[in-house]
Amino acid sequence: MKILVINSGSSSIKFQLFKMSNNASLANGLVEQIGEKMAHAEIRFHDDSGHEFQITEDQTIKNHKEGLEVVNSLLIESGIIKDLTCLDGIGHRVVHGGAHLSKPIIIDDQVISEIRRLIPLAPLHNAAHLDGILSSLEQCPNVPQVVVFDTAFHSTMPQHAFMYALPYDLYEEHQVRKYGFHGTSHHYVAKEASKFLNLDYDKMNAISLHLGNGASACAIKEGKSVDTSMGLTPLEGLVMGTRSGDMDPAILPYLAKMKDMDIHDLDTMLNKESGLKGICGNNDMRIVGEMAKTGDEKAELAIKMFTYRVKKYIGAYLAILGNLDCLIFTGGIGENDIDVRRRSCLGLEHLGIIIDNDLNNQYAKGPIEISAKESAIKVVAIPTNEELEIAAQVKALI
Ligand code: ADP
Repeated sequence: MKILVINSGSSSIKFQLFKMSNNASLANGLVEQIGEKMAHAEIRFHDDSGHEFQITEDQTIKNHKEGLEVVNSLLIESGIIKDLTCLDGIGHRVVHGGAHLSKPIIIDDQVISEIRRLIPLAPLHNAAHLDGILSSLEQCPNVPQVVVFDTAFHSTMPQHAFMYALPYDLYEEHQVRKYGFHGTSHHYVAKEASKFLNLDYDKMNAISLHLGNGASACAIKEGKSVDTSMGLTPLEGLVMGTRSGDMDPAILPYLAKMKDMDIHDLDTMLNKESGLKGICGNNDMRIVGEMAKTGDEKAELAIKMFTYRVKKYIGAYLAILGNLDCLIFTGGIGENDIDVRRRSCLGLEHLGIIIDNDLNNQYAKGPIEISAKESAIKVVAIPTNEELEIAAQVKALI
């Protein structure tokens, strides 16, 4: 069984092809700068003896429909499949499923109109996903196509956790509530952690920290999400690459008055000019780490703020979970940044979280345990694989 996973952005399509008998990735690639003067497309794959190959194409690609045609021709050129129509299934990542789309679902007209209805809640993401989905349906009408939502894993949050203390009407009339994101990743790494640590998933309590450009924490009780740091949109919670995360909402009317900023200015500031970038000028944690090492005080401050916020969420989620089996780091930073992992756990010894600095001194190429023997709570770093999780959910459904 071969399943293609598609993640459509506003000007890009990322794709990965899986052979489901052994969960092997057969090829992955992307098309970017769709709609611009010159788009770039590439596919990476390997032969049976593990030799890596890459094909790239630069050409004008007007829209997602043309983008998928290029994906099709790259897959044919690689020799891995005859063409997209011979796939067993296609899985589409969709960021926002709202309150109703809480499980992977085969795409039909109703699903499409619900994703469209949710565009105001995730304007950049859902509109782009729809372009990709509609093009894919047109190109492969006979292949089963499934959508998997980033919000779905968090549908088990209790109401007292997902409500904001705002006028109740806003929840009823405008669905203003916490939805949470990165659900596919939190679910995947939690399942991997339970296998790695030999714990029964349905009985496991965990805190999952997905630390990438976007970052979120998730409290998992007996295998189910009971709280998460992102909210109505992926802006709330941890300090991120360019996003502020938590702050006093009154800052916004204050800035509107003092600096004459409008809604668009404020939105741009919060999503694109804040976080690590806002504090020290760079959003890439590798570069921020290098800057801090060479004595840049703002970079050092940015890392301190980032890890302090992570630590606060660990404490909060430990309080609501009661007992904790494991703490999971994932995402580009969580898997690779030894210093961020160390600093996030420093001082949590009294709560039963103790890192072994030697074990922590490695990248998580696969699952690794980084806690000391005497740590009551296991601390692990697990590489996330949202695409494989989507493919697995497509397979389960079809
Ligand atoms: P996205 O949210 O875009 O998927 P990723 O999960 O790929 O992001 O994470 C990107 C972040 O991971 C960047 O801040 C990058 O600097 C960081 N990162 C990747 N590799 C390393 C590394 N070896 N050390 C420190 N940070 C790293």
